[in-house]
Formats: sequence, structure tokens, C-alpha cells
Amino acid sequence: MRIEIDTDRCIGAARCVQHAPGVFTQDDDGVVELLPVSGEPADAPLIQEAVIACPVQAITVEQP
Ligand code: SF4
Repeated sequence: MRIEIDTDRCIGAARCVQHAPGVFTQDDDGVVELLPVSGEPADAPLIQEAVIACPVQAITVEQP
């Protein structure tokens, strides 16, 4: 699973971090960042929740 984040679109709502704290974090300005280990198959359901929860559609995923 490949995760794309659009940092220009992100408004720092933190929904992604709430849903998948092992995958997403935020920088000092609140903008989303991916943690080094992300996109593991076991995280897929949480990542999908984050995609849906993001209010500005800043997260997209590509399945292999
Ligand atoms: S939920 Fe969306 S807007 Fe909020 S921090 Fe995550 S990517 Fe950014």
C-alpha cells in the first residue's frame, strides 16, 4: 500500500493521527507527516478510516 499525503491541502485537523497514530503524525505547524514505518498491510483498515475522516481529502492510497 502506497500512501500519498498532500501537505498543501492539509489543514491540520489531526483526524488521520487519531485514526492511525502508527502511520501519521504532524509537524510543529500541524501539517501531516508520514511516520517512517507506514503502509504495512495490518494498518490498511486504519489508513482507510483516516482517508475517510480527513475533511479535505489530503490522503490517498494506492493498493499494489
Ligand atoms: S486529517 Fe487531513 S487535514 Fe487533518 S492532519 Fe490529517 S491530512 Fe491533515
